Amino acid sequence: MKAIFEGNKEWIKNTLDKDPNFFNNLSEGQSPEYLWIGCSDSRVPANEIVNLPPGSIFVQRNIANQVGNTDMNLLSVVYYAVKYLKVKHILVVGHYGCGGVLAAMSNNSFGFLDNWLVAIKNVYSKYQDTLDMIDDLEKRGDMLVELNVIEQVRNLAKISFIQKEWKNGEYPQIHGLVYSLKDGVLKDLDSSINTIANMRPVYQINEDILKK
Ligand code: ZN
Repeated sequence: MKAIFEGNKEWIKNTLDKDPNFFNNLSEGQSPEYLWIGCSDSRVPANEIVNLPPGSIFVQRNIANQVGNTDMNLLSVVYYAVKYLKVKHILVVGHYGCGGVLAAMSNNSFGFLDNWLVAIKNVYSKYQDTLDMIDDLEKRGDMLVELNVIEQVRNLAKISFIQKEWKNGEYPQIHGLVYSLKDGVLKDLDSSINTIANMRPVYQINEDILKK
């Protein structure tokens, strides 16, 4: 635990060196423009990889960045972000090499976690014809990571209070992104949705994955 408290002291010192008013400003409230729905994976920290300071991003993370329509935790976070914080963009952020997605692809049991993996297995079933054509398991996993993001973007678009917001304007916009642990690049899957009319984005088969 020493690393935690020493790290905190060090961070306060560095932060105040850069901006002596940092905590005064931060304690006045938050008005983030983004809601981040990402994976719990320790290698994908929201603020750091997009270089934005505290106060910029409202965050929800779980294994394999799932948007479940019975997940009270997630729905409450999304509701607060949309209705009260008025975030303009919701980012669903997956990442290649996601342990949750790879676990769902296997036939092994992971104990209690199997319950959580069912949703990802369902994404696999939906796209089984396409996925089974890819022999290389890493490439197949990469494609399932992308498809999983697209499906969560769609799940968000099905939420009633988000659809209600769209009747009043163009926000929130929902975006599907994938992060690469190999080079740090965050890629847009071009699956953005901001109206009921385009809530079924067509997934373009990622030729890059097939070529790699
Ligand atoms: Zn992950």
